[in-house]
Amino acid sequence: MTDKKVIVIGAGPAGMMAAGAAAENGAQVLLLEKNQKVGRKLAITGKGRCNITNFCDTDTFIAHLTANPRFMYSAINRFSCYDTVTFFEERGLRTKVERGNRVFPESDKALDVVDTLYRYLTDLGVAVIRSEVKGLRIENGAVIGVSLADREVFADAVIVACGGMSYQATGSTGDGYTFAKAAGHTITPLLPSLVPLTAMDQDVPQLQGLSLKNVMLTVKDNSTHKEVYREMGEMLFTHFGISGPLVLSASAHMRQMSPGRYTVYIDMKPALDEETLDKRILRDLSEFTNKDIINSLGKLLPKKLIPVVIRRAGIEPHTKCHTLTAEQRQALLVQIKRFSVDIQAFRPINEAIVTHGGVDVKDIDPRTMQSKLVKGLFFAGEVLDLDAYTGGFNLQIAYATGRLAGESAAL
Ligand SMILES: Cc1cc2nc3c(=O)[nH]c(=O)nc-3n(C[C@H](O)[C@H](O)[C@H](O)COP(=O)(O)OP(=O)(O)OC[C@H]3O[C@@H](n4cnc5c(N)ncnc54)[C@H](O)[C@@H]3O)c2cc1C
Repeated sequence: MTDKKVIVIGAGPAGMMAAGAAAENGAQVLLLEKNQKVGRKLAITGKGRCNITNFCDTDTFIAHLTANPRFMYSAINRFSCYDTVTFFEERGLRTKVERGNRVFPESDKALDVVDTLYRYLTDLGVAVIRSEVKGLRIENGAVIGVSLADREVFADAVIVACGGMSYQATGSTGDGYTFAKAAGHTITPLLPSLVPLTAMDQDVPQLQGLSLKNVMLTVKDNSTHKEVYREMGEMLFTHFGISGPLVLSASAHMRQMSPGRYTVYIDMKPALDEETLDKRILRDLSEFTNKDIINSLGKLLPKKLIPVVIRRAGIEPHTKCHTLTAEQRQALLVQIKRFSVDIQAFRPINEAIVTHGGVDVKDIDPRTMQSKLVKGLFFAGEVLDLDAYTGGFNLQIAYATGRLAGESAAL
């Protein structure tokens, strides 16, 4: 038993893990959350199913981080993805592993994950108070507590786990950055990551609502002429541009965003090489030989896409199939194999799954999560300049850094 008093700011996955770990290590813990409900963002993760973690080893986890991977070594070695599964299973939450080693609760309910974490805290005697923290109290280079609207609360250690600044209605409004800055920390530029993309092309909004499965998405950086992303999967057209799992993942590779810098290419038929696709087009054209081209591609493409593809190929929609030239066929093929979307911008940060950037990790000790600038001050979760691809990795960052901060703060 230590007689240390630890305050944790923010009852998201990082803060709840930190509070529990500190209490397990004998500290007297106060968890302050500004919402009435704890874990509001956690409750909407994975479309309400919560992709809890990824069932993978440390190297695979590190390979899926999109910022400061080396910083995470100590935390992930202390609390691995497998430890997360064991943690939840031991507390009665049955889990299952899906495609891509994504771990979900067997119930498919993110709220069950929130409840499990909350029960973990209350069983350990963590005091959870619904109150908004206004600032940190720092004296002589050490944190001594926090300020609330009406009073101050004192502690030996404070863990800032306020999250990033996306989906602000869940409570993650960037307060942690303000606290860190006031304590002398540097905040690296904040950018949206895992975010939908707006398109420059005038014809893209016509495709709104169209979702494509098993397509190959490639992103080219037009400044470096390099391909920065290539993956198979699902995507979606929206009124502003493109979204869906492939697009969100691709956005994490577009850090130098400016209008026109990136072009997304969609291969609608990745399983067919050009020669096979050409044969396929020829077959469809001969079947509908006296029909207009606009009415003849229904077997090959979704209905919404046909007029756009034909227009982009420079073909008059009422051209009869049997009059189509080899050049026109080739133009059609290019549109099907390399349908391009020029990217204007990210959607606003509030629509991002995670915030890229945050408290600069160079001022944080990776073995403890303690600030190198202010004694007794710890950080955990998305408030740090840490983020990852989709697949459960972002929540794993939250639990692993949370546990390490909690254990260290209790010492
Ligand atoms: C729609 C969506 C789906 C997602 N799905 C997944 C998924 O399936 N798998 C995955 O790995 N990741 C997913 N993520 C990412 C994941 O949710 C975050 O990375 C994770 O929640 C970060 O945890 P955190 O504890 O650091 O911050 P948060 O979860 O943001 O929690 C921070 C908490 O701090 C509180 N707070 C903030 N300021 C104050 C203050 N001043 N005083 C008191 N309390 C304060 C907030 O109210 C909030 O409760 C998803 C994100 C979104 C938006």
